[in-house]
Amino acid sequence: LIQLYIPLNFLGVLYREIRQALTDIERMFGLLRTQREVEDAPDALPLQPGPVTLRFEQVGFAYDARRPVLEDVSLEVAPGTTVAVVGHSGAGKSTLSRLLFRFYDVSTGRITLNGTDLRQFTQKSLRRAIGIVPQDTVLFNDSIHYNIQYGRPDASAEEVLAAARAAQLHEFIERLPDGYETRVGERGLKLSGGEKQRVAIARALLKDPPILIFDEATSALDSQTEKAIQSQLEAAARGRTALVIAHRLSTIMNADMIIVMDQGRVAERGTHSELLTQCGIYASMWALQQQEPQQEN
Ligand code: ATP
Repeated sequence: LIQLYIPLNFLGVLYREIRQALTDIERMFGLLRTQREVEDAPDALPLQPGPVTLRFEQVGFAYDARRPVLEDVSLEVAPGTTVAVVGHSGAGKSTLSRLLFRFYDVSTGRITLNGTDLRQFTQKSLRRAIGIVPQDTVLFNDSIHYNIQYGRPDASAEEVLAAARAAQLHEFIERLPDGYETRVGERGLKLSGGEKQRVAIARALLKDPPILIFDEATSALDSQTEKAIQSQLEAAARGRTALVIAHRLSTIMNADMIIVMDQGRVAERGTHSELLTQCGIYASMWALQQQEPQQEN
């Protein structure tokens, strides 16, 4: 019986390994599939390194021609400033970041970087210039060191450590059983939503891109975590061209400009205090969020 057990047990392990590998590949392709929708222009040029002024100029977009998702959206983000986009679910906020990353091309209008239409840049150089902190970060089944270094694979161990410190992740990692070598992901240690977001921030800091997109997670957080995210976000955005898709208004109160989206259009724009005095959508969203009981974790 033991002669049968060993190979069968081995097959079981092998099966789990293959299944996990397939999950990873599926995820990768899920990401890549969307990237193949657009092609580089034949004469595309690389975007030069350095500060970037980003503009959406009367942008219109529809995933399906029968239903416009964005109409006449204009906004500008200068280097060293943070623009936050808020609005009800389905208003088109995340679509803005997908267009900037060129998962899709705009239907009308244009998006420019330092005055040049982003369709004139190679996608490789465009994506190198943009760091994304997504709503839900994919962790690889590998060490936490590897997961951070993924932001810039040639980064040294010291640089990975500095990024982890800046993302306020270092002390947490030091307390893990194997420190930076602790395995995370589905077969390793499971990280909380907030911890995963900090890994994403560390990755983005390591990449050191001129443009940062921060897509805030929708899930409710306790007020302490909310404050921590706000300060990490501000640290990550410092000195960059930052676009923040926000769900909790308290995290973006200090943004240089807040754009309120409603059904694919810009309904209001201004700073937090300017928008409160307008007594419009933003002011009512703010009043509503102030009433919500804080989640206690
Ligand atoms: P949320 O706050 O819920 O994340 P959002 O403001 O970011 O919402 P978007 O994700 O930009 O909203 O979606 C805007 C609209 O586009 C929604 O009506 C949505 O159903 C639609 N949409 C989003 N992605 C696709 C897609 N891949 N194909 C077709 N329609 C889509």
